[in-house]
Amino acid sequence: MIQFKEALEIVEQSAQKVGTERINFIESLNRILAEDIISDIEMPPFDKSAVDGYACRKEDIANLLDVIEIIPAGKMPVKKIGKNQCSKIMTGAPVPSGADTIIMVEDVEEFDKSKIRYAREKVRNNICYKGEDIRVNTILLEKGTLIKPQHIALLATSGAVKPLVSKKVVVSIISTGDELVEPDIKPGLSQIRNSNAYQLVAQAENVGVRVDYAGIVPDNEVSTRRMIESAFATGDIVLLTGGVSMGDFDYVPKVLSELGVEIKFSSVAVQPGRPTIFGVKGEQYIFGLPGNPVSSFVQFELLVKPLIYKLSGYNYHPLNIVLPMGNDYSRKRSDRLSWLPVKIDNKGEVLPLEYHGSAHLNALTEADGLIAVPVGQTTLRKGELVHVRQI
Ligand code: AMP
Ligand code: MG
Repeated sequence: MIQFKEALEIVEQSAQKVGTERINFIESLNRILAEDIISDIEMPPFDKSAVDGYACRKEDIANLLDVIEIIPAGKMPVKKIGKNQCSKIMTGAPVPSGADTIIMVEDVEEFDKSKIRYAREKVRNNICYKGEDIRVNTILLEKGTLIKPQHIALLATSGAVKPLVSKKVVVSIISTGDELVEPDIKPGLSQIRNSNAYQLVAQAENVGVRVDYAGIVPDNEVSTRRMIESAFATGDIVLLTGGVSMGDFDYVPKVLSELGVEIKFSSVAVQPGRPTIFGVKGEQYIFGLPGNPVSSFVQFELLVKPLIYKLSGYNYHPLNIVLPMGNDYSRKRSDRLSWLPVKIDNKGEVLPLEYHGSAHLNALTEADGLIAVPVGQTTLRKGELVHVRQI
């Protein structure tokens, strides 16, 4: 059995980056940039009005002003602003030469369509200056960025319509267990529905991979070997759930060795999820995750997600928020690092969720995050600050 920290290091050090491809930027959400994105323009590209109003000279704003032009967004002004003149201007339109201030339409008295006066004392210039947000030839997005909606706006604005990104990691998912039936079937007396595989499919899809769900394999050696072999034909990562504990029908470790998988670890001092296996076959990876849905959920978060991101070239650091415990927590044993599902209440306090074992599927229903209780520690006190890892 190895410590969790060591397991994570082994996983991350084993990862060989996947290749890259150019894709349409509209499809790049959740992908990882494999090149810097350089701006080919300035933003704003011209001095631009930030409001609907009148462009004029600040020194004239106490005076009656003649309206000499109307400037819509998308059109260049024709006339230059001289003494006691102004042009009506729309938000986003270029500021005419001669003007240094835009007075807002709400702050103006109109005498007729061609004469106005500013009705306030203080004035802001309301101009967004050329290049104040983005300069030409600067790095807008760095290689290794995980693309979120706000980054898509930057790709669009800089014309990076075919960004170079990491290829999608392909994850093949297999469930093992004679007791499993698919969700659309009413389980018989000794059966349960397969929940785990679909939870994993969703977790994997959430981090932008391509998922290939292979189905349920019965607990026998021949079928298990065949299924893993075929999963390796398509997947960068094979996720197998169940069959990794010490039950009489748990063939997985044996089959993996026979298929030439180098098993890097097969037991981690972590709770839930001790019997987690990790193996490497060339540039492919396999996790044998515990069959219990809570364990498999947590191990995906702790080990599989970091591997997926590492393969994609993303320097992943899980987001932790530091908050106080809302009540006391204690556990009997402390020989493993424990990850507790927690809820954050509306006072911003952390409440461990009632959780009576790793099969307790609905313990996660209200979970906002996980907190770690280190090896050797049995209690957490109300008010003590803990790091909540968001899930
Ligand atoms: P195993 O790791 O195969 O020994 O399974 C541990 C426990 O998890 C057993 O109670 C299994 O019935 C249950 N289990 C295994 N696979 C799944 C699955 N895909 N969905 C829900 N529960 C499962
Ligand atoms: Mg099983």
